[in-house]
Amino acid sequence: MADGHHEEQSLDTLYRDVLFEHYRHPHNKGELAGAEIVTRGNNPVCGDKVVVYGKLDDAGRLERVCFDGKGCAICMASSSMMTDAVRGKSLDEAAALTDRFKRMMRDEVPFEVPAEVPDLEALAGVKKFPVRVKCATLAWTTLRNGIVAYRAGQRGAETSESCET
Ligand code: ZN
Repeated sequence: MADGHHEEQSLDTLYRDVLFEHYRHPHNKGELAGAEIVTRGNNPVCGDKVVVYGKLDDAGRLERVCFDGKGCAICMASSSMMTDAVRGKSLDEAAALTDRFKRMMRDEVPFEVPAEVPDLEALAGVKKFPVRVKCATLAWTTLRNGIVAYRAGQRGAETSESCET
């Protein structure tokens, strides 16, 4: 058990590397032409701003999700991971995943990473910094709001990651 501390340190380093890799080389970043879902998100606490785009296939599944915007490393990395996590999912599945991710980040449910997005584990450490949790959840909340707006027949909704959500 004497090495426990060292092991924890190296895990932290590993997760930080995963996080910065997404930050430096984000997946699915940029405007997505022809997207049915276009939603803006704003985290005024940190200054993070994202736009989330979702394009649906004929079966109504998320064929592709992209994001654009500016923010801190946690926000950009989490946005990148979100676009991978929801790809190919139905709107119901994507909404359920965004809800679960947010509850995991708020420590309301155990942090269990879906097998298809192992990189999400890198965000578990952010739970220790409550002020940064919104950085991690912003893109997920934004997509969630975009799905709601799409179903209500709206496009281009604007939302904030407020204290309540
Ligand atoms: Zn941030």
